[in-house]
Amino acid sequence: RLPRLYKDALSKKSKEYWDYERMIVKWGVLDDYEVTQKIGRGKYSEVFTGFHVPTNKKCVIKILKPVKKKKIKREIKILQNVSGGPNIVELLDVVRDPLTKTPCLVFEWIDNQDWKTLYPKLTPYDIKFYLYQVLKALDYSHSQGLMHRDVKPHNVMIDHEKRKVRLIDWGLAEFYHPLNEYNVRVASRHYKGPELLVDDMLYDYSLDIWSFGCMLAGLTFRKEPFFAGADNVDQLYKIARVLGTDLLEEYLDAYDLELELEVEQRLGKLPRKPWSSFKNKENSDRCSPEALDLIDKMLRYDPAARILPKEAMAHAFFADVRKEKEK
Ligand code: ATP
Repeated sequence: RLPRLYKDALSKKSKEYWDYERMIVKWGVLDDYEVTQKIGRGKYSEVFTGFHVPTNKKCVIKILKPVKKKKIKREIKILQNVSGGPNIVELLDVVRDPLTKTPCLVFEWIDNQDWKTLYPKLTPYDIKFYLYQVLKALDYSHSQGLMHRDVKPHNVMIDHEKRKVRLIDWGLAEFYHPLNEYNVRVASRHYKGPELLVDDMLYDYSLDIWSFGCMLAGLTFRKEPFFAGADNVDQLYKIARVLGTDLLEEYLDAYDLELELEVEQRLGKLPRKPWSSFKNKENSDRCSPEALDLIDKMLRYDPAARILPKEAMAHAFFADVRKEKEK
């Protein structure tokens, strides 16, 4: 039960790279920043636009809520490791209020349009272009031994005018150590892979491809979120209503996993739906055979059966984007 690619990514790195608990954070100067406007509130933070006073440069300041020191260190270390990678948000500074000790992360600012207004307007080419950029970020972070674990529209910033994409929010990201068991309480419900919903703790980078596949399906079928579960059990039910229960059983059997009786009863027996059945008048322009084929290769119960970011980038769905790059 190992990922097909990058299973040993961390063995090529020094201990310092992944041993985040032992990191000593070098805090910058809080007074260098001024906050201007609140732009977001998450479970773990409040996010503001602001500027760096000495240079007058606009930035984003993420003020962390009081959580475990270990989690804060993990986010900082991971950001320091991947910041500057392709389409990954740049971490500019980490500062702390000397009195309250509240940690703040300072990022490059992206003039993002809310996905609810942006997504309906995108052309089929835009969709391919932006998703290709996200795959680049995922392939890179996986190659650096990191799983993001919270891929969703909220965490993909798009500056449509500049055609700039950044994967943000590395607060749930984690280092991949071969055969490690991981907490299944990650990702946002609608983007949780089946492995999280059936308590399969031996997961890996391929979790990100499930979440990404949910985004691809949501964009393709103009149905965001594509799997809209009301709770975790309902989430698995919504998935099984599309992929069917036979393949779920195959996955569970392959890895000796079992569903709780309550969950098994809730699911019952469900047939598999063809991807083409989600086509309608509103989304037919986006439903190319290539899009449906890629969705099919991502949304698999068995994490090991999912296409990898690198393979997905070489898929026919992205042919136009690759061609544009060569020009
Ligand atoms: P959540 O609990 O929703 O995952 P969080 O507390 O982990 O949120 P982030 O996801 O990092 O925090 O940021 C919250 C919101 O702030 C984002 O959804 C986005 O709208 C905005 N935001 C964060 N970083 C940036 C950035 N660099 N540029 C522009 N907007 C940003």
